[in-house]
Amino acid sequence: VSERRGDAVWIEGQAGDPSARVVVLASKQPLVEAGGRGDLTIAYLDGSLARRISPDLAAWLFLGLSPDGPVFAIEADDEQREVVLLTSSGAFDELRAIGLRLPPAEAAILATAKALFEWRGRTGFCSACGQSNRPADAGWKQVCTACGTEHFPRTDPVVIMLPIQGDRCLMGRQASWPAGMFSALAGFLEPGETVEEACARELFEEAGLRAIRVAYHSSQPWPFPTNLMIGLIAEVAEGEAKADQTELEAVRWFTREEARTVLAGLDPEVRPPSPMAIARTLLEAWPGAATGQDS
Ligand SMILES: [Zn+2]
Repeated sequence: VSERRGDAVWIEGQAGDPSARVVVLASKQPLVEAGGRGDLTIAYLDGSLARRISPDLAAWLFLGLSPDGPVFAIEADDEQREVVLLTSSGAFDELRAIGLRLPPAEAAILATAKALFEWRGRTGFCSACGQSNRPADAGWKQVCTACGTEHFPRTDPVVIMLPIQGDRCLMGRQASWPAGMFSALAGFLEPGETVEEACARELFEEAGLRAIRVAYHSSQPWPFPTNLMIGLIAEVAEGEAKADQTELEAVRWFTREEARTVLAGLDPEVRPPSPMAIARTLLEAWPGAATGQDS
């Protein structure tokens, strides 16, 4: 119901609906509790408690209508956080750590709320004139109180690719990652680039490889803070792969057999990317990686 976001009277009515449920985040961490269909579930506040925490409805974010009623999100400051914890059986936790323990639809709701609040937190002031912005359109827009410039939520595209050469794929690791973890290569799309060009540039910069053909596989919103991961499988030319030593400290080729062993968690030295990350999906999707069949 995105077309209703600008209708303040309708939004107010939704917020006052007895079935309204409100997601609450403190320090960008959502309130969750045990139970539901997943291991964890969103600990929603009812509308009246949410009003006590966040009295100004203009600060509420309208997420949409679920079969069970309207869904909103609010942010709690340190003091409000204590009030929430006193009245709820839930706890605040890092979405990145608990994403896989939530039902997918609930993880998606929290990803939306977190990405929008991350964006709002960085757009308190107008980038055109420097004066204060205020939320509009039920949280989906920031409008400057002085010059009226409208600011819209931003999403930063990231290309993430699994390079393939014949019967092997390449993964890399950053020095800051947990020991032994290897993953797909990635980088931000730059202005003026196509997705394919960004992929080719990153492959060359980070690993010294030349892309021959780039195929889109899938995408994933990644609200850490406001990215969209664009998953690609990239066929690369013969050549030596070499980590650039700035972004990556090492790159390594994996045969299909080795990739299967890593994915199964049976490699004594190499850890696969997290199941929550699209890098894992790309590795699993590499033709034959999971089934042992040749492409
Ligand atoms: Zn302005």
